[in-house]
Amino acid sequence: MKVNVQNIPSEGLHFDLAGHPVILESKSLVVNGPVEGMLSVQKLGNVDVHIRGSLSAHLLLSCGRCLNSFDYPVASEFYVDCTHEEKSPISGQEHRLYGEELNLHFYQGDTLEINEIIENQIHLEIPMAPLCKEDCKGLCPICGEDLNLALCGGHE
Ligand SMILES: [Zn+2]
Ligand SMILES: [Zn+2]
Repeated sequence: MKVNVQNIPSEGLHFDLAGHPVILESKSLVVNGPVEGMLSVQKLGNVDVHIRGSLSAHLLLSCGRCLNSFDYPVASEFYVDCTHEEKSPISGQEHRLYGEELNLHFYQGDTLEINEIIENQIHLEIPMAPLCKEDCKGLCPICGEDLNLALCGGHE
């Protein structure tokens, strides 16, 4: 979904993601079902835009111990300030990291890529080392058996 900054009315834009399916581009992100939520897009000046929203989704993550994929529900309330790339103090590659730190999104031309903004928000919800369950027993380091399902009997 794209929003043209020039076309945001003074009362803002409000929409339900149900009517605007979110297509995630990142291959590291697998969703189980649609991303749901609401967004408010408010223009603050010529180029500054404030986005506030809520989202929820079911992600398919891979467990850091047993490697099985499992359903991980995420829900977040967020806001992002958007401004034109030309107003950024830095350029190129560092953009994304810099933006994440300050909750800032830089857009090009007149177009806000809403999918990209939502994707970034979902990324922030993913734990560094996801576990399918708190006490996941993981894989036997010797035979590779999933110790949640069966004990391999041990090794001499
Ligand atoms: Zn696991
Ligand atoms: Zn074993």
